[in-house]
Amino acid sequence: MVESVNPATGETVESYEDHTEEEALDALDAAVDTFEEWRETTFAHRQSLLENAADVLRERQDEYAELMTREMGKPIEQARAEIEKCAWVCEYYAETAESHLAEEQLSVGPTDSAVVRYEPLGPVLAVMPWNFPFWQVFRFAAPNLAAGNVGLLKHSSNSPGSGQAIEEVFREAGFPEGAFQNLFVGSEVASTLIADDRLRAVTLTGSVGAGQAVAEQAGANLKKTVLELGGSDPFVVLDDAPVEETAAKAAHARLQNGGQSCIAAKRFIVHTDVYDEFVDAFVEEMDSWTVGDPLEEETQVGPQADAELMEELHDQVQRTLDEGAEALLGGEPLDREGAYYPPTVLTNVPRDAAAACEETFGPVAAVFEVESEDEAAELANDSEFGLGASVWTGDPAGRGRAFAKRFEAGCCFVNEYVKSDPRVPFGGVKDSGYGRELSKAGIREFVNRKTLWVN
Ligand code: NAP
Repeated sequence: MVESVNPATGETVESYEDHTEEEALDALDAAVDTFEEWRETTFAHRQSLLENAADVLRERQDEYAELMTREMGKPIEQARAEIEKCAWVCEYYAETAESHLAEEQLSVGPTDSAVVRYEPLGPVLAVMPWNFPFWQVFRFAAPNLAAGNVGLLKHSSNSPGSGQAIEEVFREAGFPEGAFQNLFVGSEVASTLIADDRLRAVTLTGSVGAGQAVAEQAGANLKKTVLELGGSDPFVVLDDAPVEETAAKAAHARLQNGGQSCIAAKRFIVHTDVYDEFVDAFVEEMDSWTVGDPLEEETQVGPQADAELMEELHDQVQRTLDEGAEALLGGEPLDREGAYYPPTVLTNVPRDAAAACEETFGPVAAVFEVESEDEAAELANDSEFGLGASVWTGDPAGRGRAFAKRFEAGCCFVNEYVKSDPRVPFGGVKDSGYGRELSKAGIREFVNRKTLWVN
């Protein structure tokens, strides 16, 4: 039995019966059967079904947004925006899949011809996290269904209802039954699926440990993987950055989704010339965000997704303070019902402290003072992670662009906080994973790049 618990109240939202291993293998059978027909459908057909999926999402936006909010505490306005973004990614691939996967002519001499074709692989397993319970799944599902693959979902135990609702979206949109199936299963049944020859690939969005475990099993079975893992994104403020404006963006970059985003800025690296001014403005901005019941319209920061995760975050804060850091804001769980942690700003953070080295998955900012651009770049890259990174300057096209090239990260932004967008590739390097989602790069991950040579 898997239960979703509302982190704002501690109440059970809903319980779901686990699927047995046999039921999961039946679902794989259905996926294999559906794939044989689905791969033969035209892009025009898939396009119209993806457009239907976007319509279903918009029609049911409030219902799905509330489901996510109840399952994991996301503020309701941000939840509605997430559903809209899912509709966007469906429309994006409806419009672009055919051109992204068009045959490419190669030049192989005067008499012969050769092309590269992009053909679907088959059933793909998606193992997904709770933090963006719809978006993470749609950014996998839309391109893969468009490419002719079929999907099986093992969603997080914190967001089972979202998994079920997403299956319903695709059914209502008219996709065949085996095209996208949600499974209420744990890691053991996931392993059985990964070991099955009929499953062709695995994608995982989640923590480093989960990525390692799944990639190990997939490697043993020679299955391709895409891994979207954790991050500790640097937010670098150069000496010519407009301080007030940058501090407001910094708070947003840290507090989106209650701070529970892989691409939230977590380490704020600030040039000494603007350090004091920035820290004052940043603390004020962080303090101005409204913490409260995530179902209230004005709430900007809800509870953490569950009590245990909040305790882990608080432990990281305490260890960082024990190492000599100072809390200028927050630093203690809120004294109220629910897993509420306040916006927290830590300064004087030693470089080997928890908030400097580990991923802090909540509203906790670690601020560092640096003397030069070189020191900023060195500190930004002094991380096991390499997901996103941003730099803030009065000269975005010159200094900003030059600095951004030095980041060891997959998604680098100048004067903008790191975000995902269907039109650009998304993914990391180092312990943040490998492979890319979204854009042309994402739809080409799970395809057979087939060379076809004719003499
Ligand atoms: P998590 O605990 O790693 O769980 C992610 C998914 O992996 C869940 O479905 C989980 O299932 C499953 N899982 C865990 N161990 C597994 C195993 N041994 N075999 C098979 N499946 C396994 O992560 P989370 O707490 O849900 O999400 C937060 C993490 O995700 C953070 O590190 C965050 O940075 C990362 N993230 C990365 C991205 C990105 O795009 N790079 C985006 C969002 C989140 P159970 O729930 O059943 O354990």
